[in-house]
Amino acid sequence: MLAVVPPPVTVRVPSKINLHLSVGAAREDGYHDLTTVFQALSLTDEVTVAATEDPGVEVHGEGAKSVPTDESNLAWRAVRALAERMDRPEDEAKVRVVLRKSIPVAGGMAGGSADAAATLVGLSALWKLDLSRDELAEVAASLGSDVPFALYGGTALGTGRGERLVPVLSRHVFHWVLAFDQRGLSTPKVYAELDRLRQDGDPPRVGSHDPVVEALASGDPRQLALLLGNDLQAAAVSLRPGLRRTLRAGVNAGALAGTVSGSGPTCAFLCESAQSALEVAAELAGAGVCRTVRVAHGPVPGARVVGGDDSP
Ligand code: ATP
Repeated sequence: MLAVVPPPVTVRVPSKINLHLSVGAAREDGYHDLTTVFQALSLTDEVTVAATEDPGVEVHGEGAKSVPTDESNLAWRAVRALAERMDRPEDEAKVRVVLRKSIPVAGGMAGGSADAAATLVGLSALWKLDLSRDELAEVAASLGSDVPFALYGGTALGTGRGERLVPVLSRHVFHWVLAFDQRGLSTPKVYAELDRLRQDGDPPRVGSHDPVVEALASGDPRQLALLLGNDLQAAAVSLRPGLRRTLRAGVNAGALAGTVSGSGPTCAFLCESAQSALEVAAELAGAGVCRTVRVAHGPVPGARVVGGDDSP
């Protein structure tokens, strides 16, 4: 009798920006406690998982050349973690993962984490595991602090290392312009630079996240624009001084405000409307301050099977 091969599953997964990112002191384990407000954006990666005799990872699209295709790929680590968790280690050797990337690599938009989250959702469908999103989130948290958020999407307050999430009411679609830099920035190096800046001086710190949560509930982009803030911005700008020009250019082009996303170097500009975002994007693209410009909106849902209803 012929074995039935399940059809491949494709999952679309959002990028994230941090509307607010407060970084605490370095802990003994080297990590920093964070308080952050994430928003999931419509700039997405697509991840296909398929049963195969030719296991491995394939990467196409944005930044593909700088993404590893060996076991260090976060998507592959997700395959391994779920196979272990479900006690089916033999199945790890029977999966092919194809990544179609639009999220910039090492861009501060959690692209690798997004791919890991998408792989968990895809495998849960491929292997018919019937796991809830909360169950997947436990595996996700073991893979990296941004992975759980990519599963849930929306807008959320993250604490701990960013993996403890509470949804935040966001009453509006917010329109963003994203400026990708020429090269990525290493997240550990940005944290190390922040530690150095704090040893030598007093770089700016964001205040409480409460006003940000209120602005999201009000749905007023002008109110939110006044409150965007990121403790890592000073460190990212210190390592990549050209970001100062990029941030200025976005505001000069008509954005309400700009911020470095996460550890950078991607800059996110909040705009008044979808039309304004298109205008800002066109002007920024001509300003010669970044490699690529994209428009996106948020919040959007977390990792979802394309063309299917995988809601738990
Ligand atoms: P974060 O904001 O979560 O710190 P990031 O968006 O700055 O992350 P990623 O795109 O997730 O950065 O990639 C960081 C590094 O991880 C890359 O330089 C790459 O070598 C490695 N990596 C492993 N797997 C992936 C993947 N699936 N996609 C992108 N990068 C990956």
